[in-house]
Amino acid sequence: MSALEAAVRALPSPSSAWIYDPAAFAARMARLRQALPGHTILYAMKACANPAILDAAVRLADGVECASGGELADAAAAGAARLAFSGPAKTPADLAAAAACDRPLTVHAESPRELDGLAEAGHRGPVALRVNRGPALPGTHRMTGEATPFGIDEHEVDAAIDRALDLGLDLAGFHLHAVSNCLDAAAYAHHVETALDWARRAARRFELRSVNVGGGLGADPRGPAIDLDALAAALEATDAAGVELVFEPGRYLAAPAGWYVAEVLDLKTVRGRAFAIVRGGTHHFRLPAAWGYSHPFTVVPGPREGTVWSDVEVRVCGELCTPRDVLHAGRQVRSIAVGDRLVFANAGAYGWEISHDRFLGHPRPEQVVIV
Ligand SMILES: *Cc1c(COP(=O)(O)O)cnc(C)c1O
Repeated sequence: MSALEAAVRALPSPSSAWIYDPAAFAARMARLRQALPGHTILYAMKACANPAILDAAVRLADGVECASGGELADAAAAGAARLAFSGPAKTPADLAAAAACDRPLTVHAESPRELDGLAEAGHRGPVALRVNRGPALPGTHRMTGEATPFGIDEHEVDAAIDRALDLGLDLAGFHLHAVSNCLDAAAYAHHVETALDWARRAARRFELRSVNVGGGLGADPRGPAIDLDALAAALEATDAAGVELVFEPGRYLAAPAGWYVAEVLDLKTVRGRAFAIVRGGTHHFRLPAAWGYSHPFTVVPGPREGTVWSDVEVRVCGELCTPRDVLHAGRQVRSIAVGDRLVFANAGAYGWEISHDRFLGHPRPEQVVIV
C-alpha cells in the first residue's frame, strides 16, 4: 500500500481531508533546478501555504514570493532566507512591514503611487517595477498582454523609473509575471527571451540587476504539465549575462503535492442520474467550481455500508445547499459505496488555499502530512 493510500485509509469517518506530501514538492523542485540551471527560483506560496510545504520551499528554493502582508509574516516566520513581495493592493502597513523586514526583500512595485508609499515607509531594499508588457501568453489566467489590475502600463515605465530614482529607491529591475498554468513550453521560453530583451532596453538611468519573469509554469489540475525538457532546450541559448534571472512558480511545484479526499455519505438516483454525495465539497476544494471543470478522482474503498453500486456513472456533489457544489459532473466507476473515499490527485495548488470553507458552517477538512 502506498503512503498515500495508507493515509487515506487512516482517516476518521466520515472524512474530508487534505493530504500533502513534501517529497512530491521536492521532486518537482529538483526537476525545475535541472531545467533552469544557475537561475533563481522563488516559491510563490499562495499556491499552497501548508506549513510542511512551506517548510520544504524554505529549504529547497532560493526564497519565497509573497502576495500579501500576511504571507510575508508567515514566510519570514518559516525562516525564508529571501523574500519577494507582490500584490496590487499593498497598504501602508504592508509597506511598513516590508521596510522593517530583517532579511533580503525585493518589493515588486505595482504602481507609481506604491513607489511613493515605499519611499514614505523608508524601504531601503531593492525594488522591481512590475510591468504589463508584451502580448498575452497562453494559459488559464492572463496578467499581462491585456487590461488587468497588475503592474504599470508599458508606456509609463520611463516615468516610473524617473519617479523611483528621484525618490531615492534602489531600483534593481523589473517584475514581469505574465500568466498562470502555461502548458506551452515554446511560448514560455519566448516570454523569458523577450522579457530579458525588453528589460535591457527599458532600463535607463539605473543598472539592471534582475529580471523576474514570474511564475506560470503549467501544471493543469486535470493532469498535464509543461514540458520542462522542451523549456530547458529552448532556453539553452538564453544569454542572461550580468542579470539575475528569477522564476517564481507556485502551481508547478505544489500541484502534485496535494490530494483532496472526501468520503461518500450517500448514493442515490434522481431523475435518472446517479449521485455520490460527499462529506466536504467545493467549499474545501473550490478549484473545480472556480474553473468549471470535473476533477478526476479514484475510489479507495472505505468502511463500506449498504449496497455497493457497480459500473455506474456518478456525479460527485458536496454537502452544500447549492447545485454548483460539484466536484465531478459524471464519471464511470467500477464500484462505489457509502463509506468509500474519493481521492482527487494533483490538487495541491490553489485547492484548499482558494476555498471558502466558512459557507454553511460545516467542520473544516483535516490537514494531513505524509512523512
Ligand atoms: C501567483 C503568482 C505567481 C505564481 O504563479 P503560478 O501560476 O502559480 O506559477 C508568481 N508571481 C506572482 C506575482 C503571482 O501573483
